[in-house]
Amino acid sequence: KRGLLIGRMQPVHKGHISVIQETLKEVDELVIGIGSAEKSHTLSNPFTGGERILMLTKALREYNIDPSRYYILPLEDIACNSLWVGHVTMLTPPFCRVYSGNSLVQQLFQEANIPYTQPPLFNRTEYSGTEVRRRMLNNDNWEKLVPNSVIKVLKEINGIQRIQKLNQKEI
Ligand code: ATP
Ligand code: MG
Repeated sequence: KRGLLIGRMQPVHKGHISVIQETLKEVDELVIGIGSAEKSHTLSNPFTGGERILMLTKALREYNIDPSRYYILPLEDIACNSLWVGHVTMLTPPFCRVYSGNSLVQQLFQEANIPYTQPPLFNRTEYSGTEVRRRMLNNDNWEKLVPNSVIKVLKEINGIQRIQKLNQKEI
């Protein structure tokens, strides 16, 4: 049995690792789609699809998750929600169930007769991309919310400097 999990992962945080670990208890293989893969260099989507693939690859290796059990691929957005499921299935290995808490994702797959599961959230007040990005802007202890390997990638790409620069106002 193969499942699909989609997240923008801006950036990868420990909530993503938990949901991947939990979902891997239910499926043999997990297809992990990096959503809005074409977006980058904005405050809500600071990192490129490639940078996020690097973060997730390193983090899943750090947590000793068997690499034969997952596939990581970029999923670009499309303009038409009504065509989105076909777009996703065109790009992904076959899967029989979607794991997502996003209600639009749930609705679109349900209409395509693909079942979904709403996975539980872990420590959501801290393990949230929005919270990690907020702390990065404020130099406020974001490091403990992400895997060590993600800290390393963010250093390599000067990620904190990037997001803080994006936040500067023209004067
Ligand atoms: P953002 O605040 O930028 O939207 P996010 O933390 O919601 O970031 P996404 O990249 O939007 O993360 O990923 C969405 C998916 O990741 C969710 O549908 C959910 O399945 C999973 N996820 C995110 N945070 C957690 C968490 N704390 N516990 C479990 N799953 C999580
Ligand atoms: Mg989200």
